[in-house]
Amino acid sequence: MNQFNYIRPSKQQAAIDAVAKDGNAKFIAGGTNLVDLMKRGVMAPQKLVDINRLPLTKIERQGNALRIGALALNSTVADDRQVRERQPLLVQAINAGASAQLRNMATTGGNMLQRTRCPYFYDTAMPCNKREPGTGCGALEGINRMHAIFGFSDKCIAVHPSDMSVALVALDATVLVSGPKGDRRIPFTDLHRLPGDAPEKDTTLEPGELITAVDVPDGPFTKHVSYYKVRERASYAFALVSAAAALDLDGTTIKSARLAFGSVAHKPWRLTAAEQMLVGKPATEETFRQAAAVAMQGAKAFKHNEYKLKLAPNTLIQALKTAAAA
Ligand code: SF4
Repeated sequence: MNQFNYIRPSKQQAAIDAVAKDGNAKFIAGGTNLVDLMKRGVMAPQKLVDINRLPLTKIERQGNALRIGALALNSTVADDRQVRERQPLLVQAINAGASAQLRNMATTGGNMLQRTRCPYFYDTAMPCNKREPGTGCGALEGINRMHAIFGFSDKCIAVHPSDMSVALVALDATVLVSGPKGDRRIPFTDLHRLPGDAPEKDTTLEPGELITAVDVPDGPFTKHVSYYKVRERASYAFALVSAAAALDLDGTTIKSARLAFGSVAHKPWRLTAAEQMLVGKPATEETFRQAAAVAMQGAKAFKHNEYKLKLAPNTLIQALKTAAAA
């Protein structure tokens, strides 16, 4: 690991200034991804700005939303009474991610900003446009069974690994950000970006911008929800495909729906066309199959991930069936 400087400011502005003024500085909180990346030589920041002293751990009501501080631990959020009552989809998604030990270290902000688990990104002997722009993409002609079926480019076909973010994009969350130019709010669907010609950029955050909280709006999705994750072993594995489904039912009729896929694209993949198709329909398996067909429009596989073209719709159908039965 390279040598680096380390500071631990107690004021938010000091932390933001430290990163904004130094292109080689990074925020660190739980460190569950960044420390791994540094140990493997994938990232080599020259300064770490530890934000754990900042008062960003609260979970509280703000108007018609739950505001979750960026430093609230994943385990704390999943155990919080208000979150469990109002946002059970988020609880399911958080608990599907990582291990109990990691959820006790990982923060809400860090979970959103974790980097892809593409093996070529982690292998510094291989080409990777995300790690080193312009070197090529090892996965395009390599082993690409974990990779994207939506939204990829010829520069990068990686997927975003967060489970929590799939629930947050489905629930219309908003990310609160503070930076050198002030504060702003980013709809969750706009936080992560598609790779395009610049796969080295995972998000739309500007240099020095710090995520301070996420607002999850109240909604009718307190009962009929399901986060369904398919992975290669029962615990502690990243998803092959996951699906978040939340239904508002009037009897057996669907009043509204929120849907998203995980591990199919460079960002959590919201399924608005399928949501709209479900409105007014009966909550039956046949309806869910139709929604899954809509959700898969535009999907395209690579040599080793063709199985996702079947697995993804089946995962969504299972999530919808589980949500309807909840
Ligand atoms: Fe790198 Fe993206 Fe290609 Fe993986 S898919 S090797 S992260 S450029």
